[in-house]
Amino acid sequence: MTTTTEKLQELDRQHHFHPFTDQGDLNKKGTRIISKADGVYLWDTDGHKMLDGMAGLWCVAVGYGRDELVEAARQQMSELPYYNSFFQCTTPPAIKLAEKLAEVAPDHVNNVFFTGSGSESNDTVLRLVRHYWAVQGQPEKSVIISRKNAYHGSTVAGASLGGMGYMHKQGGLPIPGIEHIDQPYWFEEGGDLTPEEFGLQRAQLLEEKILELGVEKVAAFIGEPLQGAGGVIIPPSTYWPEIQRICDKYGILLIADEVICGFGRTGNWFGSDTFGIKPDFMPIAKGLSSGYLPIGGVMFSDRVAEVLKNEAGEINHGYTYSGHPAAAAVALKNLEIIQDEKLVERVAEDTGPYLQDRWQELLDHPLVGETRGVGLVCALELVKDKTTRERLAPDGKAGGLCRDFCTSNGLVMRATGDIMLISPPLTITRDEIDELIEKAKKSLDDTL
Ligand code: PLP
Repeated sequence: MTTTTEKLQELDRQHHFHPFTDQGDLNKKGTRIISKADGVYLWDTDGHKMLDGMAGLWCVAVGYGRDELVEAARQQMSELPYYNSFFQCTTPPAIKLAEKLAEVAPDHVNNVFFTGSGSESNDTVLRLVRHYWAVQGQPEKSVIISRKNAYHGSTVAGASLGGMGYMHKQGGLPIPGIEHIDQPYWFEEGGDLTPEEFGLQRAQLLEEKILELGVEKVAAFIGEPLQGAGGVIIPPSTYWPEIQRICDKYGILLIADEVICGFGRTGNWFGSDTFGIKPDFMPIAKGLSSGYLPIGGVMFSDRVAEVLKNEAGEINHGYTYSGHPAAAAVALKNLEIIQDEKLVERVAEDTGPYLQDRWQELLDHPLVGETRGVGLVCALELVKDKTTRERLAPDGKAGGLCRDFCTSNGLVMRATGDIMLISPPLTITRDEIDELIEKAKKSLDDTL
């Protein structure tokens, strides 16, 4: 007898291409089909229950099954399902969401341009940054400096700003005018340096690159406060202060990509608050709506806003769904939930420190070379030898193996090469954290 799952898998094979997936490989195995979720749990079509250690794709901040968000979407859709923010028009939810974002963002950041996703936000930031300099008579100030192994999205500009070599190999990327410097990944690249020495050294690569290119050509530096998709790479404490100093010294705009870190993940509203960054631009998405509807944006400082208001004329950029009213209504309600349930404070004072303590226990496991984390985001490095840091298997194969054991054991954990990552919903409880850790331990034992 053919089960529902098998029927769906067959249809999937026939018609559906998946993002970041080897389609041939998937067609052999058949895809896992997630059909239900509640709180921090997911179920697939075979009824297998899993604790979602990744909050979807880092986005389901307030957890699944939130009726308040369903109701916000329903109400807005019945009143006004769509209208745009083009040509001197907008809608009440877009205005109210912009106001709420100004309230929760760093004091000097009070402005937002809405998009439909994190990738669109980074396309937008590239254009706004270059426009900012062009309208001030410096169109040649157009190069954006990013990092190797950064992730800024999948559109042409997003993937070019990103530093994923395997993405650049497809589609003729990166586009011109983007440079990549080395990342602050101490475990893999730190050698004999202390984390602090290494952080400083990697930040100073920005100054070297600015001087090499000529400051008159450099528009901005872009970085995720912590590199998420690259492997939860948490920069040493010396890194961001030095980057900030260099940006200030040369008058380079600083873009903090808050798509993952934004909305409480690191125990503050934004990663910029946690790492002491004073950004000019902040691309946002994901936790903004907890993923219930797609929405993103680019927030920017009052200094930038002055230029864009008074000197820029018409901004020839925008998306049909910029400020989509239903998505904006859901995002607004989502931010209200985060505020009302004090989720940011809870991550800072309770569940964040608790998860970090328990996560550290995994360092005792023979396969774990390092554990790291902040707030509710963590990573561990799989190794064969803790001292030499020799990898368990070539080509990051051990990560995939461990991830598959996690899935069988009822835990969604992500693998980036040989790094295992978690980023659970901000609503996760201490008991659920205990369950996550026990399942992670069992999966590590299975991998051994
Ligand atoms: N920026 C960062 C830091 C991200 O992690 C991501 C997605 O993971 C993006 C941008 C792209 O966002 P989206 O997938 O919504 O286009």
